Amino acid sequence: MPMTSPRTPPQDPRQALLRALQLEQQRGYNNRSVVGGLDRLLERHQSALASSVRGWTPPQLAYAAMSPAQREQWVEAAMGLLEKAQGKVPPRRPQRPEASRPPRKAAAPPPRPSITLDGPLSQLRAAGRGVAQKLERLGLGTVRDLLHHFPRRYNEIRQVKDLRPLEEEQAAVVTLWEARAVTVGAGGARATEGVVGDETGNVRVVWFGQPYLARSLKPGARLLLSGRVGVHRGQPTFESPDHEPMPGEDASLMPGHLLPVYPSTEGLSQRALRRAAREALAEALPNVQETLPSELRVRQRLLDLQEALSQAHFPDGSDRLEAARRRLALEELLLLQLWALGHRREWRVPGSGIPLPAQPKVLEAFLSSLPFHLTAGQQRAMEEVLKDMEQPVPMNRLLHGEVGSGKTVVALAALLTAATNGYQGALMAPTEILAEQHFLTVSTLLAGAARPRQEKRRVTFHLDPHPQPLSIGLLVGSMSARQKEETYQQLADGTLDMVIGTHAIIQEGVTMPKLALAVVDEQHRFGVAQRSALRQRSSGRRPHLLVMSATPIPRTLTLTLYGDLDISAIGEMPAGRQPVRTRWAREHQRQASYDFVRRQVEQGRQAFVVCPLIEESEALQVRAATKEHQRLSQEVYPDLRLGLLHGRQPAREKSRVVEAFRQGEMDVLVSTPVVEVGVDVPNATVMLVEGADRFGLAQLHQLRGRVGRGQHPGYCLLLAEDPSPEAQERLALVERLQDGFALAEEDLRLRGPGEYAGVRQSGMPDLHMARLSDRELLLLARQEAAAMLERDPHMERPEHRPLKEALERQRRDAPGEMS
Ligand code: ADP
Ligand code: MG
Repeated sequence: MPMTSPRTPPQDPRQALLRALQLEQQRGYNNRSVVGGLDRLLERHQSALASSVRGWTPPQLAYAAMSPAQREQWVEAAMGLLEKAQGKVPPRRPQRPEASRPPRKAAAPPPRPSITLDGPLSQLRAAGRGVAQKLERLGLGTVRDLLHHFPRRYNEIRQVKDLRPLEEEQAAVVTLWEARAVTVGAGGARATEGVVGDETGNVRVVWFGQPYLARSLKPGARLLLSGRVGVHRGQPTFESPDHEPMPGEDASLMPGHLLPVYPSTEGLSQRALRRAAREALAEALPNVQETLPSELRVRQRLLDLQEALSQAHFPDGSDRLEAARRRLALEELLLLQLWALGHRREWRVPGSGIPLPAQPKVLEAFLSSLPFHLTAGQQRAMEEVLKDMEQPVPMNRLLHGEVGSGKTVVALAALLTAATNGYQGALMAPTEILAEQHFLTVSTLLAGAARPRQEKRRVTFHLDPHPQPLSIGLLVGSMSARQKEETYQQLADGTLDMVIGTHAIIQEGVTMPKLALAVVDEQHRFGVAQRSALRQRSSGRRPHLLVMSATPIPRTLTLTLYGDLDISAIGEMPAGRQPVRTRWAREHQRQASYDFVRRQVEQGRQAFVVCPLIEESEALQVRAATKEHQRLSQEVYPDLRLGLLHGRQPAREKSRVVEAFRQGEMDVLVSTPVVEVGVDVPNATVMLVEGADRFGLAQLHQLRGRVGRGQHPGYCLLLAEDPSPEAQERLALVERLQDGFALAEEDLRLRGPGEYAGVRQSGMPDLHMARLSDRELLLLARQEAAAMLERDPHMERPEHRPLKEALERQRRDAPGEMS
């Protein structure tokens, strides 16, 4: 556009500004590139810039008032616009009537040659230093990561007449009609008040505490507002909305479309995230390669990857979004299943395992010595396990059952089978307390079958039909170097038939030449790395692997999280076990709760008091438990015998406390949440949980599983001082639901699948889009993955190569992965 005014400098204002901005960059954004400051230059050329630079809007904050980081960001963005306007780069997205718009990727410009998907985010203009740092906090390091950082939800962009006051967040594309600085309220707080509107009407907007916006926001500017609409003086009013200048004529941001709302982190605005996503899509999408074989895409009617990514960020409507979601979710689940089935294949190499025939006589002797009969679930699980162990293919099985369902006996039957076949078995627990507990339980259970000779860390017994004596040893990290050395020796020379311990078992220095079975309790801490370490401990062939978990996960999830394992589930509890009666005690019922505990103790029972979970610091947690122990000893139960258990105690002290509690030498055990995983004291009937609002559903359920394990009914009292609405919902649920699986389903609904990360094994592909409740898609992924591996076991066909690369990328990025 020609400049005719005689006052216009001979030079194109765009060039003048570009030069000034370059200078600013060189000088570290000190606002010295233009005499009088950059704001003056901007003001002078405002109308010329607005008419000649697509997407131009003046800065919302005076340049002089910006922080250096803001200046940098703004300068980068402005330079981008100016460069484009001067034809260095073709305009990003030519305007076109909505209806005739072809698929978006066709409209995208050729990629910037420099942009690589797996390169750093700094390649994007929208990710200046500050922004990139914050994106990193979200775990986003590359452009590809950003493309897969999907919105948490979407706000429909509405017209002004459709805005609904007092609903959640609203979004609208509007024109700013006026804005002025005002004083609001009695306190004299400053604000900017304005009127915005579209063809359907006008609405008030107030930015509290931001009077300067009145200066930087220019009437006539087109803005994308998102925020809450409240009611002020009887009128609907946008309250301090997020505002961003409309990026050109982006059809995806018109009414009826969905505005992405991303998971974010402190100091990172939705606006910055949207800008970054928009730029990543515009610049890097053409570099994105299709991952799914076209045969599958056609058969399942799936969007292509570029279109799916584009629609997932800025959907053209809810149908398109759903199609994008389905495609991306299927890909994630497919990768997950390929990963799982691949692992399974890797582990279960035919001929690499040790066939261990069941020993019916020994088994019978063991089972008849138990003070109870197996439940039907235990029986079935045991049969499945023993059948696996007879095969020359290493077992890879999950034994799943609620706390108290009796998994240990099943494990023991398997361990005995290994030992009586002349091999070794190992049982691994996540903590020392648990390991010692297992050692004790196992010794006691076997004592029924035989008479053990109790040494400190070794028990030897005869199991009748079996000719030789059998020995079990304990191996935990806190044992002295000499004790450990001795155990290593006994493992190496075969003196020990079974070992029970912590991860100490798979440390350097341990060899079990005859290891044929490894049982891992609480599988979620046992990942791929541990598995390969385990393989190294045994010489040559692979041990059978049995992992046990009580983590109540929804049934719909097992296939996803344990896709590489065969599953045996113990669905019921031993007969006569009563549900733990759970009460959420309100603060005014605190004394009544203490009295309840006292009455149980008077009847000869024992109690746990669990102190709040303090995730930030174990030290704080220990301090809280120590203080609570003191307070309860002095003020509440001065006449009872109280004990204290926490994570900072030396291992020896911990086991002394647990043992004393088990022996009935204490009435009340005050503890940090460490008891969650292990203590089995049948006489303990009541558990009082302090700060119950800090625990998750699954944790609360695990905790209450510690009581009511004997013949007396169990009780759980949940105290929470000031629970949030979500915490109240959780507490009410634990109170109402007894079934761990039902609770797990609720947990999934309340928290979303992200929280299940803790159950995942390292190296497992991430799920961003897949809803784990989507059973149909999950089964489809499982099927497709199996068929794919059937046809092409090593994923070598050209159409499978992109998936293989994606898997390898995940494997590389996975923390804790061992080669
Ligand atoms: P978990 O599945 O939580 O590991 P355990 O194996 O520790 O459960 O068993 C919990 C308690 O139930 C133990 O004291 C155990 O001896 C007992 N138990 C196991 N099986 C039965 C059964 N079939 N009948 C009665 N009690 C049982
Ligand atoms: Mg157990």
